[in-house]
Amino acid sequence: MPTYHQRVKQFQKPIGSQLGQLDLELTERCNNDCIHCCINLPAHDANTRAREMTTAQIKDILHQAADLGCLRVRFTGGEPLLRPDFEELYLFARRLGMKVLLFTNARLITEHLADLFARIPPRVEIEITVYGMTRESYEAVSRAPGSFAQFWRGVHLLLERNIPFIVKQSLLPPNRNELDQFEAWAKTIPWMKKRPGYAMNFDLRNRRDDEAKNRAVAAMRFSPDETIALLARDEAKYRKNMDEFRAKKFMGAPGDKLFNCGACAGRSGCVDAYGRLQPCMGMRAPELTIDLLNGKGEGEQGRGEDPTNHPTTKLRDALGNFPALHELRATSPEYLRRCAQCFLKGLCEQCPAKAWAETGTLDTPVEYLCAVAHAQARYLGWLGENEYGWEKKMRDER
Ligand code: SF4
Ligand code: SF4
Repeated sequence: MPTYHQRVKQFQKPIGSQLGQLDLELTERCNNDCIHCCINLPAHDANTRAREMTTAQIKDILHQAADLGCLRVRFTGGEPLLRPDFEELYLFARRLGMKVLLFTNARLITEHLADLFARIPPRVEIEITVYGMTRESYEAVSRAPGSFAQFWRGVHLLLERNIPFIVKQSLLPPNRNELDQFEAWAKTIPWMKKRPGYAMNFDLRNRRDDEAKNRAVAAMRFSPDETIALLARDEAKYRKNMDEFRAKKFMGAPGDKLFNCGACAGRSGCVDAYGRLQPCMGMRAPELTIDLLNGKGEGEQGRGEDPTNHPTTKLRDALGNFPALHELRATSPEYLRRCAQCFLKGLCEQCPAKAWAETGTLDTPVEYLCAVAHAQARYLGWLGENEYGWEKKMRDER
């Protein structure tokens, strides 16, 4: 039986100039405290701040990414603009020739920052999440007094300077009845070429750190029927898109292969705020992450004893390990009975990251996502009322 490291070597692919995008979570802290958030920690949490990567460490990782051919970095969080060195990191990435995709709530976009974006553009639209169209609804979500005015100011600073951005919305009880108002406003934004994206099937806490919040988040998710009502607002278009999706053979039973996404390819990755490389933004299972900073175990990572230390594990080597994800197989009997056989797999959002956040395992079916996928399939006429995507006759017929 080959050892893990032998298996990793066997499946390793040379990482040359092939890193497409790097996601960098600059901090998990946020100046909002959104009722549905899967990651945020308090903005002034000193312990968390002390564990975050230093400016030098982040620059080192950016440099390594550039050496691997990376042309685009996503700065995300928490709220990435909370970092006092944001401007320095932004300029560093831009000077390396990278486009910078910024995910932000826009509250900390100042005149100075907007001027900087005007002078040295990010080269890709800034993405702003909107939590409400009025102070009442926005702040009922963000739980941060004054946040609506700051968000609105940030947006207008960008508009005044013609800095491209797009907006998306988290649909939550306080703002659900503002959908039309939001869409009407979104249409006025010059860079919105299509309908805004919505979040409504919210993730649980990525770090499995707050059971009470998880229960609250789960209660705010759209029901399967509500999800369909939103997806199929333009019914003819929705049906056409889904039929095309199916015709392109994006659907089909995956067998016991655990990862069925791009994470295994090693062409992208995410480094969290403490220097751990993850296969993607959602996947935080410790056994699938690699500490780039000091090789210490979970919970000890971060700046280490020397705040000026540089990453000790090279991004190239760490990324080279991810192709071994191809090899991982599901073992949960329920996964093998259902997901492994299910022709809805391409439609369903079930994946190892979501399974881990929900259940602490990589391969337990997520019942909520299963219900959403089945409701869609029934709506589209792909399944009858009492039929399931994993039944043999379904696979054979479809
Ligand atoms: S603004 Fe984003 S990161 Fe901050 S609390 Fe809200 S959802 Fe979380
Ligand atoms: S629909 Fe259900 S059984 Fe099918 S892949 Fe999703 S979670 Fe698994």
